[in-house]
Amino acid sequence: MQTIKAAVCRAFGEPLVIEEVQLAPPGTGEVEVTLDAVAICHSDISYAEGAWGGFLPAVYGHEAAGVISAVGEAAGDFKIGDPVVVTLIRACGTCPSCAGGKPTICGTPYDTVKGPLKTGDGGPLEQAMACGAFAEKVVVSHRQIVKIPETLPKDLASLLSCGVITGVGAAVNAADLRPGRDVVVIGAGGVGLNAIQGARIAGARRIVAVDTTEEKLEIAKEFGATHGVLASLDQPWKAAYKALGGRGADAVLITVGAIPAYDQAPRYLGRGGKAIMIGMPHSGDMASYEPVVLAALGQGVVGSKMGDVVIQRDIPWMVDLYEQGRLKLDELISGRWSLDQINEAIADTKTGSAKRNVILFDRT
Ligand SMILES: [Zn+2]
Ligand SMILES: [Zn+2]
Repeated sequence: MQTIKAAVCRAFGEPLVIEEVQLAPPGTGEVEVTLDAVAICHSDISYAEGAWGGFLPAVYGHEAAGVISAVGEAAGDFKIGDPVVVTLIRACGTCPSCAGGKPTICGTPYDTVKGPLKTGDGGPLEQAMACGAFAEKVVVSHRQIVKIPETLPKDLASLLSCGVITGVGAAVNAADLRPGRDVVVIGAGGVGLNAIQGARIAGARRIVAVDTTEEKLEIAKEFGATHGVLASLDQPWKAAYKALGGRGADAVLITVGAIPAYDQAPRYLGRGGKAIMIGMPHSGDMASYEPVVLAALGQGVVGSKMGDVVIQRDIPWMVDLYEQGRLKLDELISGRWSLDQINEAIADTKTGSAKRNVILFDRT
């Protein structure tokens, strides 16, 4: 066991507490990564607010990048010093989901409370989302990480591990967009902007962003949206039809957690269109739709976790896209903070005006 500094959730809805915790060395198939950057995702905030329950105390944080500092037995070809992205996708590789090409919905359980973390006095401490990355170091499965170039700054790299793969992956993998398709993206936040640039990369004909402020619609256009629609309109889908030449969309990507967005999403669909649920509403929240319309028009509503990505395939592709100038990463970061400032960074994210806030670790 070694002692590291982490931001710990001791009570839902309360500020995180910076404290010393214990981290076990990597076991079989695992590596230790010393972190340079971890971004704050809305999922971290939902967990910290108690929206999805879970064990306490816990360490959240799952959008991270750093350098391998220890390697366990049978941990692939990773070695100390490799720069990597750390994701929450702890896939077993052999269950029906993994073998079927969908490691994001791996069915093999992993007990996050019996993971590598303990409190300073040796008590149980949850390694939330199999990462626990609001900490100086993590111990994770080698299947959760992907090597990245030395030259890719870690703050940008950290974004690849959740927001970018979720948004771009939803457009490319889940919605299976092809050139010429029309797309509506509901929400132009961290994931929404990536869904928009994913639709652009996939060759969409028209991309309509729907959000609550003109300012966010303008930012959406920088990422590839061709049109913007204010969600506050009486029937915003009608404005979207107009932008799409009088018809509904081939795909609607719902990137927010607000239930009205789920209730309204099918309204934006054209014949044969598909709505992809990407945002994560709180447990127990229900949405409604009219089955006869979906049946008659051959439409679908489907969930997508983490953009249905295969990280070993998709993250190197996205790194190339960035290096070729086809994927925006720099523009996604709205603030950089230290671990000690994490509660301020979370408060800033909750205002809704931020894109991604990133915690940088001082390793000097
Ligand atoms: Zn996330
Ligand atoms: Zn699996």
